[in-house]
Amino acid sequence: MTDCIFCRIAQGEIPSTKVYEDDLVLAFRDLDPQAPEHVLVIPKKHIASVLDFAEEDRELAAHILTVVVPKIARELGVDVGGFRLVTNTGADGGQTVGHLHFHLLGGRSLAWPPG
Ligand code: C5P
Repeated sequence: MTDCIFCRIAQGEIPSTKVYEDDLVLAFRDLDPQAPEHVLVIPKKHIASVLDFAEEDRELAAHILTVVVPKIARELGVDVGGFRLVTNTGADGGQTVGHLHFHLLGGRSLAWPPG
């Protein structure tokens, strides 16, 4: 059994509130939401961070950004008012889970810069 919590969520060993799923990608609601809509989009395959995308992951990366994220944003209705897509990377980036994930946040006005 893997000790990666997001691998375990992707494999269905740990329950999550799913928003989207296909063969390659899972999106689920963040347990500690920072906005009215806060979804995590993850590859099912273990990739540690955006730094670890390999050449073979090109299609996966494009699929997440060109298909999955726009679809979820539209379904949540945040495409109209706007939303934020962010992937925290490494210690200074605030990454706490070592499995690549994109935070999709929306449903309120989001401040910039982040803390
Ligand atoms: O970017 P970062 O690595 O800090 O984000 C991890 C996110 O995963 C957090 O927003 C945390 O609330 C979420 N999380 C979750 N379910 C878990 C563990 C973490 O939604 N079981």
